[in-house]
Amino acid sequence: MPLKVIIIGSGISSLSAASFIAKEGHDVTILEKNNEIGGRARKFSKDGFTFDMGPSWYWMPDVFENFYKKFNHTTSDFYDLKRLDPSYRVYWNDDTHTDVPADMKALELWFESNEKGSALKLRAFLKDAQIKYQVGMEDLVYRPSMSLLEFANKRVLKGLFSMN
Ligand SMILES: Cc1cc2nc3c(=O)[nH]c(=O)nc-3n(C[C@H](O)[C@H](O)[C@H](O)COP(=O)(O)OP(=O)(O)OC[C@H]3O[C@@H](n4cnc5c(N)ncnc54)[C@H](O)[C@@H]3O)c2cc1C
Repeated sequence: MPLKVIIIGSGISSLSAASFIAKEGHDVTILEKNNEIGGRARKFSKDGFTFDMGPSWYWMPDVFENFYKKFNHTTSDFYDLKRLDPSYRVYWNDDTHTDVPADMKALELWFESNEKGSALKLRAFLKDAQIKYQVGMEDLVYRPSMSLLEFANKRVLKGLFSMN
């Protein structure tokens, strides 16, 4: 039997929960205290200027793709992603700026120009981050968290005991 469901807040997590509950045939109402939806990921416009209120980086693209797949869509049905190069620009107090390049080789050269040996450290850091991301996504994030035993697998336990 369809239920009446109220979700408080319209951030990305609420919108996702609302979509899944509505997909099950329930009657969902979202209550939001701000004038716009989106929570921290909303936009704010004033005097012709538009500000992103939170995220700058499109992290975890696989999560967005998985979400839309559950509704027989793909992200490109709703938005186009463009790879920016430079990835971002940092402005300093003295009016100079630093561009962080998108290309990995160029990024390594940029690291190396700032600190000798740092390109190797960057590579090692990214390799470690990749393993953590894979374990996090494959063994933790999508589990329903009903029991600790869900997390009792070799990769998670190995990660826990090797943390420093
Ligand atoms: C400055 C900043 C930079 C960030 N950069 C990145 C980034 O680069 N990449 C990235 O992936 N993530 C980034 N994040 C994180 C990302 O924005 C958040 O993790 C994500 O938007 C949180 O979504 P949420 O739905 O969990 O919560 P929220 O977006 O916080 O949504 C909660 C919603 O609930 C509403 N609400 C709360 N209480 C009530 C109430 N009582 N009644 C009605 N409504 C209520 C709030 O108004 C809000 O709309 C950044 C965040 C910030 C703040």
